Amino acid sequence: MLLAAAPAQASNRLVDIRLYSLHKLHSINLEPEGEGVTVGERQLKGPAKATARGQLVVFDGGVKAGPARTVKIHAPLKGVWLSGPALPRRLYTGELTFSVERNQLKIINSVPLETYVAGVVTGEAGDLSQLEAYKAQAVASRTYILKHLRNHIGEGYNLCDSTHCQLYSGLGSISPKAREASDATRGELLFYKGEPAATFYHSICGGRTETMTFVWPFEDKPYLVSVRDGPPGKPYCSIAPGFRWKTKIYYTGLTRLARQAGWILPDETTRGMRVSSWGPSGRAAELEIQTQRRTVKVTATDFYHGIGRRAGWTAVRSTMFKILSGKDYVMLDGLGSGHGVGMCQWGAEGMARKGFKYRDILKHYYPGTETGYD
Ligand SMILES: [Zn+2]
Ligand SMILES: [Zn+2]
Repeated sequence: MLLAAAPAQASNRLVDIRLYSLHKLHSINLEPEGEGVTVGERQLKGPAKATARGQLVVFDGGVKAGPARTVKIHAPLKGVWLSGPALPRRLYTGELTFSVERNQLKIINSVPLETYVAGVVTGEAGDLSQLEAYKAQAVASRTYILKHLRNHIGEGYNLCDSTHCQLYSGLGSISPKAREASDATRGELLFYKGEPAATFYHSICGGRTETMTFVWPFEDKPYLVSVRDGPPGKPYCSIAPGFRWKTKIYYTGLTRLARQAGWILPDETTRGMRVSSWGPSGRAAELEIQTQRRTVKVTATDFYHGIGRRAGWTAVRSTMFKILSGKDYVMLDGLGSGHGVGMCQWGAEGMARKGFKYRDILKHYYPGTETGYD
């Protein structure tokens, strides 16, 4: 632990990712990218198709294999393209194991950890430009991944490729900067007192990050505490597009959302809303919604999630907002985007533009932690 150089063990690790985990797959097309792709014992020379037939997998076209319970594909070099009529076309490398579960194909990709980290960072840091911000994201994502390797262990793999775990779209979409960041921080993790840290992150804090327990009341970590994100009046993340936002919500719309969320009864209509208490980071903590006969209290976190799930996540982007009342509407005047816990990704970008290195960035957002290797 906390050695000077990454031991080979961490960097050569493989993780098992379930591909197309949100899709129903009866069949899928394969196409080799260059030489060296094998299906079972045979070379894959051209386009082929894998199909679920009963409990068995069958390959035909450019290669014949199966029917068998499982078929392994080795795509060690440039990889293999997967595609289908309703599927995004994606390039994968490493070993892919095909089997059938409930009449659908189940594809598990054993991929080198660092390739997977680069893929995840591409998705998470796609809007940023600074390499040091990408490196901070790589360490945070790698630590997050290693802490969540048991997410799907009962289903025979480590992580799924949807946002339920971490978005992973294969090799073809990995950005050069994400690849460079994962290579430069190879095997590096974030620790608190010798344990891998819970590396939560979000898009834009709005000027001050949030203490974990104010967002998730039953959880607390000594390094997930509110920090001021840069000099007063000039937060690091103020460079972010969408740093400040305003959303007008008419009472008709608020009534509909509040009924759907179960905050008010079907015969109640909303007449007003105000922030009734504030958290120490300046975020709204509790809201009061006024109906024709009573006042209903809703935590700001429930409001943020409730609106997000029903009206999309761009309507109310964070809980750092003030409420201004109009005749038949309320105006939310807000800062930032996301839950505010842990690293502020746009703040990391801002710090990097000011010359901070990724380890300084991580220490800023996760005070008391240090980087190392396991
Ligand atoms: Zn998952
Ligand atoms: Zn910030």
